[in-house]
Amino acid sequence: MRFSSTLSRMGAAGVLLAAAAAVTAGIQARAGGTAAVSATVPATAAMPAPGDGIPLAAADAAAVTVPSSPDAWGGPRTGNEPTLSDRVVHYDIEATLDPVKHSVTGREQLTWRNRSQVPVKSVYLHLYMNAFEGMGSTFFTEKRLRESGFRSNVATGEGEWGHIALRGVRQGGTKVPWTFVHPDKGPASDHTVVRFDLPQAVAPGASTMIDIDFLTQLPRVIARTGYFGSFHLVGQWFPKIAVLELPGERGAATPRWNAHEMHLNSEFYADFGSYDVKLTVPKDYTVGATGERQGLPAEKNGMLTHRFVQGDVHDFAWTADKRTATPLVDTWSGPGSPKVTVTVLYPPEYKASAAPALKAARDSLTYFSNTLGPYPYKTLTVVIPPYNAEEAGGMEYPTFFTAEGYAQVEPDHLNQYLLDFVTIHEFGHGYFYGLLASNEFEEPMLDEGLNEYWDLRMLRDRGQDVHATTPLLKKLGFAPAFRVFEAERMGTPRSDPADAIGRNAYDRLQGIGPVYSRTAVAMRDLEARIGKAAMERAFKEYYRRWKFRHPSAADLRETLAEVTGQRAAVDAVFAQQVYATAKIDDRVASFSSREEVPLPGTRQANGAWVEDRQADLDKRIDAARAQWKKDHPNAREGSGPYPWRTEVLVRRYGAAVPQTLQVKFADGSVETARWDADEPWHKFSWVKPSQAVSAELDPQRQHLLDTSKLDDSRTMEADTRASRRWAMDFAAFVNYLYSLIATV
Ligand SMILES: [Zn+2]
Repeated sequence: MRFSSTLSRMGAAGVLLAAAAAVTAGIQARAGGTAAVSATVPATAAMPAPGDGIPLAAADAAAVTVPSSPDAWGGPRTGNEPTLSDRVVHYDIEATLDPVKHSVTGREQLTWRNRSQVPVKSVYLHLYMNAFEGMGSTFFTEKRLRESGFRSNVATGEGEWGHIALRGVRQGGTKVPWTFVHPDKGPASDHTVVRFDLPQAVAPGASTMIDIDFLTQLPRVIARTGYFGSFHLVGQWFPKIAVLELPGERGAATPRWNAHEMHLNSEFYADFGSYDVKLTVPKDYTVGATGERQGLPAEKNGMLTHRFVQGDVHDFAWTADKRTATPLVDTWSGPGSPKVTVTVLYPPEYKASAAPALKAARDSLTYFSNTLGPYPYKTLTVVIPPYNAEEAGGMEYPTFFTAEGYAQVEPDHLNQYLLDFVTIHEFGHGYFYGLLASNEFEEPMLDEGLNEYWDLRMLRDRGQDVHATTPLLKKLGFAPAFRVFEAERMGTPRSDPADAIGRNAYDRLQGIGPVYSRTAVAMRDLEARIGKAAMERAFKEYYRRWKFRHPSAADLRETLAEVTGQRAAVDAVFAQQVYATAKIDDRVASFSSREEVPLPGTRQANGAWVEDRQADLDKRIDAARAQWKKDHPNAREGSGPYPWRTEVLVRRYGAAVPQTLQVKFADGSVETARWDADEPWHKFSWVKPSQAVSAELDPQRQHLLDTSKLDDSRTMEADTRASRRWAMDFAAFVNYLYSLIATV
């Protein structure tokens, strides 16, 4: 999901001008610190179990530390199995859109397989759309109590709420009673998780079929779903079964249901399976959906029924609009992938965005399949929502995602960067959310975080910078460009990080933003430490080993450690940043380089004490210098007849990271020292024939998580305060800018 859309809401020019004003006013923007209040302290106990004794995952579940067992989720997929994934669910859905009421009437036949070795008497389903039924839902309660918006913070007006009503649930013709439950201790008025108590227990290894009639009322676009005018983005719209996790999967010791309420900041987690969905809409509507279209739509009473089928995915979303322009359709092929049909659906007002979005999608297919592994599906559908429906934009579903529309897209301007970035990001979810299928409630870093990292890698590898300008600002001469990871670090909390990146999505003091940016920067820093090629090998293996399963943070850690052979570095980063949060803040505290001239005092010579007096010494020193100049007519400043003592005091205000100190000398020589010890300070010194001119920690910029890079270096120049002051203002400006846009 795109996290922040403040920028597109204000308009790029507005943001840039606001940022400039903020600098002028001397406002030091605090990056990332958006949420003022954390959620209530979650209870650690799991919900009481129903009759079959299977509990729900704990409300505060977060990054897993224990690696999953090798046979978790049916074991690694080799490609020789009859299906890509070990399918657990099958959904047959018939849905009819009422474009006036913006509602969907649905009949769902859910087939679910009990993978466990115990009989299952109750199953849990998500009814996500009930997050939008009113102010009493967990979603709106968190929004209210935290005084925090969701992305562009569209207000829901009268008549614009959404919900999903169960109209009938049967198992083999017998009515199934249901109860709303609150796995995360949310308010009783939340109805996003429901338990079905089945008349017939599902035996170990057996499957059951549940028939569900439902009515989904779409809200006006909010939080990745809804309608605006004739545009409908239908996501999180059907009753969807939760995941029954088995021992050895994501840290589970016994079978447990993994279901969570729909929070203000959390996304989804579901079983792999297959979908066969018939969508009936008025015949003048253009339809796009997850998966492959089956034949031509069938017409009846002015309505067309479109059928889409897709295997080995874990969600299904669709769109219908009568304003859609003629779609852009293209194909893409790559090693190991089937031929992929790429379709861009867009409204007339964003025609300028269609071709750039198609290009970004095709480029992403190439990059992700080259660097991670093949894209295994035959379709990819990109939807650009219309004007005023931006809250439907920037969201991923399997083989289907929504991008963002701009009326104009100019090369090397902010609009182009944002269009590219959001398209790449939503496509990238197809890997981290789609194929690797992380639990986004509990371990959002594995999806949003790793995806952000891989997106920025793609931009970096093709040399694309962030061009923070608009046509107007460019005319005024303002067109700064930043490297993507440098920009990312500016948008993440560094001096006061409150939340481990492995914390769950919904219980965070500084909001969800740092999950994106701190993960991306921490992974980039790990890459700088262990090598780009090693990192890429490890991620390829992570994909190969864990695709179509549901890896945990521990599974990522083990794969990285094993493949790179650098367990110590990997474990250190996970201990500091994934399972905890640590500030990195190393500085050059003082730097001196002084000539060691003869000093006054007494000394023994030929059995007697003699005194070297200052006046005599001065003469001797002057003479020595004069002679030295004669002998070395071209000598540079900072050299002479006497050696120089150089001292550098480095201080550590945060966690220990492996550091390099580089000192440059006037004669062109360089001294490099390692500083890896976990100690608050260290003094390095050299005595050399030349004066030092600069001392710098981390010259390779391996530690972008470091609070400030400005205090990493010092020079011998007399007074750098003015330039430092300017640099600080500029850093504040950029901080402000990127706190707004970096975590899309
Ligand atoms: Zn995202």
